[in-house]
Amino acid sequence: MSIRAHVRLYHELSGLLYLRQPKPDLRILTYHHVPPFLRDALGSQLDSISRERSFLRPEDFSNNSTRTSPGVLVTFDDGFESAFRAYEEVLRPRGIRAIYFVVTGLIGGNTSVVARHRFLAQLKLSNKKCVSGFDESQSPMSWEQASQLIGEGNEIGSHSDSHLMLPSLSDREIQRELVESKVRIADNTGRVPQHFALPFGSYDARVLALAVQEYSFVHLTVHGPNSLSDVQSLLFRETIEPCESARFAVALTRGALDHRSCFRRRCLRACGPQLSDKCV
Ligand SMILES: [Zn+2]
Repeated sequence: MSIRAHVRLYHELSGLLYLRQPKPDLRILTYHHVPPFLRDALGSQLDSISRERSFLRPEDFSNNSTRTSPGVLVTFDDGFESAFRAYEEVLRPRGIRAIYFVVTGLIGGNTSVVARHRFLAQLKLSNKKCVSGFDESQSPMSWEQASQLIGEGNEIGSHSDSHLMLPSLSDREIQRELVESKVRIADNTGRVPQHFALPFGSYDARVLALAVQEYSFVHLTVHGPNSLSDVQSLLFRETIEPCESARFAVALTRGALDHRSCFRRRCLRACGPQLSDKCV
């Protein structure tokens, strides 16, 4: 068994043994690419989670939900066509709705070849866990598909315009990534996005401060529970791949990896978006 597999097993066990009951909180799951051969595995994960948590719809955020039982929200980053197919074949039949974060500069064939290759090269590194190569379903979804998702109760969020590391950009460039993607989504779907997911989960104090000015909700890649009754503008999320076991998915929603983000979460809770750079 590899070291990685041992670590996974440890986390599964710790999640199952020490965190027996799901807490009345909101967990947000983050998927990326869903290869066609893993759609059934995704369904098994969601079925297992549904035994102890109810799935929230994106609209529940704006309604200031009064739920008290454990909740879960599904999100997909990067706007792959495979995520659209997963919705049709896995989420929709189960009545689950999600937020799909799209990289607006990659949709509609107006992308520069360089930007597209850079994006795919980055994904090649990050998607190794589930897949070794690329397939057609890793193309960006179309604006028609994005509009259809909205029409059926899902939400389209922004994942920036170019998927760059935002902390490495100037204030003006960050602003452009935030605003340009918002305008493109509004123009192409008729809905102004309220949600933004940070590319690579990467942030600093400047990025957060600018992001919360443009969006009601900013999704991080920091493990942890969110409040059900008082949803904050900065949201913690659990990154998961469909190739993980269903047991691991349940353990994740019970907080099996919360310890990894302990320091960041404490800082973010204490400071909110007005982070000092010491906290990042
Ligand atoms: Zn991404």
